[in-house]
Amino acid sequence: MKDHDSYTISLLIPVYNEEATIMKFYEEVSRVTAPEGEHLEFVFINDGSSDGSVAIIRELIKRDSRVALINFSRNFGKESAVTAGLRSVKSDAVIPIDVDLQDPPELILTFIKEWREHGYHTVYGVRADRTRDSFMKRLTAGWFYRIFNMLSAKVKLPENVGDFRLIDRKVIDAIKDLPERDRFMKGIFAWAGFTCYGVPYERPARSGGSSKFNYWKLWNFALDGIFSFSSAPLLIWSYLGAFLGLISAIYMVYIISKTIFLGVDTPGYASTMAAILFLGSVQLISIGVLGEYIGRIFMEVKRRPIYVINEIEGGRSGAGFIRSGEKGERGANGGRDPEAGRKEQ
Ligand code: UDP
Ligand code: MG
Repeated sequence: MKDHDSYTISLLIPVYNEEATIMKFYEEVSRVTAPEGEHLEFVFINDGSSDGSVAIIRELIKRDSRVALINFSRNFGKESAVTAGLRSVKSDAVIPIDVDLQDPPELILTFIKEWREHGYHTVYGVRADRTRDSFMKRLTAGWFYRIFNMLSAKVKLPENVGDFRLIDRKVIDAIKDLPERDRFMKGIFAWAGFTCYGVPYERPARSGGSSKFNYWKLWNFALDGIFSFSSAPLLIWSYLGAFLGLISAIYMVYIISKTIFLGVDTPGYASTMAAILFLGSVQLISIGVLGEYIGRIFMEVKRRPIYVINEIEGGRSGAGFIRSGEKGERGANGGRDPEAGRKEQ
């Protein structure tokens, strides 16, 4: 596939209330990728937008047969949108890319070049300069990568690498049907392994509209990443418990001997309170950590689909994109055939 000239690449473009940026994105990507344009396909995944995004995408479908739309029934989140894209195309490679032009389209050609000439399975963009992000975002992002890589023994995340990357069919096949509902895509990409190559780039500001991620969403995203790739937070409590138990035992021996040999002292109100409060909060934190995992187990065992597709439109027959005949058909079991679903149980 990489040796001859017929290859197809699907751009997976999650869209959530992006009417201000879609047209600019389409025009800019078409312009800079012109020499390779015929190999590309624009797969817009509308993640429950409530603005005019869908109308704009439909307009593009009329104009250009390379454009396709996967329309979700509601907002399922960016990770679900990328998953839907991975499962719906049959092209030789995909490139998940943000619609706000923060992932520079010129890199698409570099990605394709590295992929075709050197055969890397994944070519990702590395954000070399994050000075345009706020100080807080850079600081917290740095902490996240450090904590994630400390806790996750086998899967390591490269720092400052987003979802913007080219992924070869081999990698797509390895990850697209992973059954987990928690779709921390960066982690899942890293989990797959294969050969990787990083291309540094400067991340520009948004071309229009506003960011869909606030600090609360990012915090939860970080927790998702850590709790779905590491069980270390569950284990530290037994070590902490053992340590505190040992100290308590030594203290107990001390108190009992003191009482026996020196008689009853004035009651130690302060130390008792301190011990109760400290242990109480340690217990609450550890129950909270258990809760994080139990909550995730709960979501997983329900086996609900990761997304529901309302309809699929556009795309070229014969190109990478799989067309689905019936409305909502692929969404019912997350895009897999019923047999596959049954086998996993
Ligand atoms: N997005 C989405 N669903 C969501 C939130 C975001 O599909 O619930 C899309 C959004 O339309 C954009 C991409 O994910 O194409 C990245 O979002 P954004 O630019 O807001 O994130 P940031 O660059 O600020 O991290
Ligand atoms: Mg953005």
